[in-house]
Amino acid sequence: MRSCLVALRRVLTTALVFGGLASSAAAQQNVMQMRTEAVTSSVHVISGFANGNILVVMAGDSVMLVDAQSARRVGLADSVLRTITGKPVALVVNTHYHGDHTEGNEYWRARGARVLAHAAVPVQAAKDTLVASFENWHRTPLAAAAMPSRTFQDSAAFPFGEERIVVRHVPGAHTDGDAVVWLVRANVVHSGDLVELGAYPFIDWWAGGSLDGMIAATDSLLAWMDERTRLVPGHGPVATRPTVIAYRAMLEAVRARVAAAVRNGESLERVLASAPTAPYDAAHGGPRAGARFVRLVYQGLSERAER
Ligand SMILES: [Zn+2]
Repeated sequence: MRSCLVALRRVLTTALVFGGLASSAAAQQNVMQMRTEAVTSSVHVISGFANGNILVVMAGDSVMLVDAQSARRVGLADSVLRTITGKPVALVVNTHYHGDHTEGNEYWRARGARVLAHAAVPVQAAKDTLVASFENWHRTPLAAAAMPSRTFQDSAAFPFGEERIVVRHVPGAHTDGDAVVWLVRANVVHSGDLVELGAYPFIDWWAGGSLDGMIAATDSLLAWMDERTRLVPGHGPVATRPTVIAYRAMLEAVRARVAAAVRNGESLERVLASAPTAPYDAAHGGPRAGARFVRLVYQGLSERAER
């Protein structure tokens, strides 16, 4: 949901489309840009940091997407998609319920796509909740026309053209309805917001997420990935295994410091003063972002059993 926060920035009105492979952190963070990156000849990523990453799989006469974009940016995403292919979108898979990954479902469904998500996604997406304890975050319900048209429980596997798609549920991590989407032949995985790069991740404690679940999810990803696997994070540049290992180490280090503080009754202010994210801030959006992540972790661990 990092995106829920970033989405407060200005709506973007123009697209800068790049065809190159190079990933620039600066470009990723510029909300005014959406770009395409070819992972293989038939697999592309449409990215732009605040926009969340759409994975595009082209097969035969149709297209599959992983994640749907926000309502405000889905039209731009489609215009960028049309620089790659004119084929219709037949299937969208959502990685979780947050609006920047699901609101665009309505747009794609209106154009004939089916939408697949974990069974918890429509449950969480229907809620209208004010999270007063976290920045007065107002979770507004997803439009009925944007709801998934099909759901799965533990996993789903199916061919899409020449590609084999495996969708796996990961329990209680970023949310309670996270799906990891594997393109087996292309050896590409979309992790949704289980991994965010260039920023600290968000843990949606209010929708069944947990830090232990995030770490376990990262372990699962690492167990499934080999040296050649390309990982498309929910937000940020396409990565390989060493980057995910470093990301996991960051989660573990912050967890250790904050969990010890919670167990020992240390105040949030004291934890913040010790700057537990300092070694990681340069890679994850700076000290303010680090402090915000510590607050999120402290709050979650204070209110829950996983210490
Ligand atoms: Zn999210």
